[in-house]
Amino acid sequence: MTKLRLAIVGAGPAGIYAADILLKAERNFEVSIDLFDHLPAPYGLVRYGVAPDHPRIKGIITALRDVLDRGDIRVFGNVRFGVDITMDDLKTHYNAVIFATGAVRDADLRIPGIDLAGSYGAARFVSWFDGHPDYPRTWPLEARQVAVIGNGNVALDVSRMLAKHADDLLPTEIPANVYEGLKASAVTDVHVFGRRGPTSVKFTPLELRELGELPGVDIVLYDEDFDYDDAARDAVASNKQVFVIDKVLNKWRERPAGTASRRLHLHFFAKPVEIVDDGAGRVGAIRYERTRPDGHGGVVGTGEVRDLPMQAVYRAVGYFGSPLPGVPFDKKRGVIPNREGQVLWKGEPGSGSASANQQLYGVYATGWIKRGPVGLIGHTKSDAMETVRHLINDLGNWWHPAEPSEESVLAMLDERGIEYTNLEGWHRLDQQELALGTAEGRVRIKVVPRDEMVEISRGEG
Ligand SMILES: Cc1cc2nc3c(=O)[nH]c(=O)nc-3n(C[C@H](O)[C@H](O)[C@H](O)COP(=O)(O)OP(=O)(O)OC[C@H]3O[C@@H](n4cnc5c(N)ncnc54)[C@H](O)[C@@H]3O)c2cc1C
Repeated sequence: MTKLRLAIVGAGPAGIYAADILLKAERNFEVSIDLFDHLPAPYGLVRYGVAPDHPRIKGIITALRDVLDRGDIRVFGNVRFGVDITMDDLKTHYNAVIFATGAVRDADLRIPGIDLAGSYGAARFVSWFDGHPDYPRTWPLEARQVAVIGNGNVALDVSRMLAKHADDLLPTEIPANVYEGLKASAVTDVHVFGRRGPTSVKFTPLELRELGELPGVDIVLYDEDFDYDDAARDAVASNKQVFVIDKVLNKWRERPAGTASRRLHLHFFAKPVEIVDDGAGRVGAIRYERTRPDGHGGVVGTGEVRDLPMQAVYRAVGYFGSPLPGVPFDKKRGVIPNREGQVLWKGEPGSGSASANQQLYGVYATGWIKRGPVGLIGHTKSDAMETVRHLINDLGNWWHPAEPSEESVLAMLDERGIEYTNLEGWHRLDQQELALGTAEGRVRIKVVPRDEMVEISRGEG
């Protein structure tokens, strides 16, 4: 019987769902899957993106873990594609590869002052508070007034984590350094800026509602932002999500002015146009232009520019994928170019096919690196189904590896001295984190330094 030796690069939800779907799919060939991740622990942004105070979503890890625990997928952590293994290696050992490498960095926001000290990308802050091993252990939280640019759920996560009192995060899995950092935070006011109106936000109602329930944090809204036009009123009447968001916001407007030590301000129709230097190369203020509805659901600038003093600015304007060596990349969209998960490439110049997008046989993509960094974890499942369907149908076009045995991959990694971790290692690390939590009366405390994660996983710690 034909056997598919498949490499999947990226052990986030997209990679794990792809493996699971393939193993359960109707097919007339055997399957053997190796799942690689450059982190020593699996689960991608579920572990290192989803906010620690969202235990229900973090709980998706249990379902992903169940898939891995079945034991029919080999896991190789601490192995970076492009450094430890290359495309040529994959072609030597596998019939095909699925890239599920997600997106980890911030999309650009090109406004003057964006590079000033005190101006940060949300993705870096998220990586810090979620204990990502490749980010600094400390985070500067001296600012009293902080701006967050963006009107999506990541902007809400960042604002909530900045505004929330550190002790209210103790029941979560936040690492000790993050608790200490947040505990020392000087923040009093977090200002969230969206260039469109309240009926055009990308927040989900559940996440928005949560803001209004933070202990010791008042929500501040501005009446001038609630002068709806017909398009906004139509949106409230016709879209259930918008209806709920509008209701939540208006309920908050009715609350009496609070006396909490921290405030979370939501500014709508406010388009940041510049981050103003304080004269010493640091963030001093945010400059924004008031916008107004254009009558068609969009906004136009009014020309009225305002400044609000700030000492830090976070941009939460989206994530962006990173190129992988030897793999086609769409620089504009930050994705691997593909047709329903089949990776496409433009033929070499001079080959007569330079203008056509052709299928790059044996190479597939799924998840955020396939479709761009939008959508929830559940969406990566439908992504994976589509990609796996093509992989199965392309049987005749797979690679013909010179060394297809499972042992040959272990030999290659060992020969290179790569300190890879495996599923057993993840269990060890998981147990250690749970034990650290129990000792402090908490559910879990994450181990952050990469070398410690690797040592524990490999049973060397
Ligand atoms: C801040 C934030 C909060 C979110 N909150 C929610 C939420 O509450 N609910 C929800 O449903 N969704 C949420 N999401 C979205 C969710 O995280 C994504 O939909 C999902 O994680 C995308 O899955 P993925 O597998 O494509 O990518 P990822 O989860 O990013 O996984 C990619 C994996 O590839 C690995 N990798 C990358 N490059 C390499 C390489 N060169 N070699 C080897 N491995 C590599 C990475 O280490 C990572 O493990 C949130 C996202 C963010 C950013």
